[in-house]
Amino acid sequence: MYKIKNMEKNFCNKCGKCCEKIAVDFNTNVMYRDGIQVLSPTFSSMLIPVSRTKNITFCSCKFLINNLCTNPEKPKECSDYPNSPFAFLPEGCGYEGYIFMQNERIKQKVRKLKEEILDYSTKLSTEKELKKIIDHHQAFIDKYKQYGSYDW
Ligand code: SF4
Ligand code: SF4
Repeated sequence: MYKIKNMEKNFCNKCGKCCEKIAVDFNTNVMYRDGIQVLSPTFSSMLIPVSRTKNITFCSCKFLINNLCTNPEKPKECSDYPNSPFAFLPEGCGYEGYIFMQNERIKQKVRKLKEEILDYSTKLSTEKELKKIIDHHQAFIDKYKQYGSYDW
């Protein structure tokens, strides 16, 4: 999975919103926060369920007090956040513009790869080596299917 490198951390305005409504599916152990993540036991132990719709439970973190984090030992999921171009950001998050740009970069790459696959497909019957390239391209597109890459 693509990760943002050298993430700048100065976009956070410390509103605390990303810690007060965390979407979790406890049945599948998945949380929708920094992209689609596996819910670790450490992170799970910090959560306080607040509301529920279907299979998603919205949780607050027990360490969030007056919109501030009071956890001296934040787990990696927190110190890295947001570290994915598919991070779920609450409205007003200082990273909105930055994550939008990262997200667009991935989408543009996927669209370009799809165009190339179409182009290569016309030559497949004669050039076997091209199939290998198409498979690599498709693997990249598949990597983002849970975020909707087939429709980009
Ligand atoms: S929602 Fe964004 S701006 Fe607010 S605390 Fe979280 S990362 Fe910082
Ligand atoms: S530990 Fe801190 S940063 Fe992590 S979810 Fe809780 S309040 Fe937010």
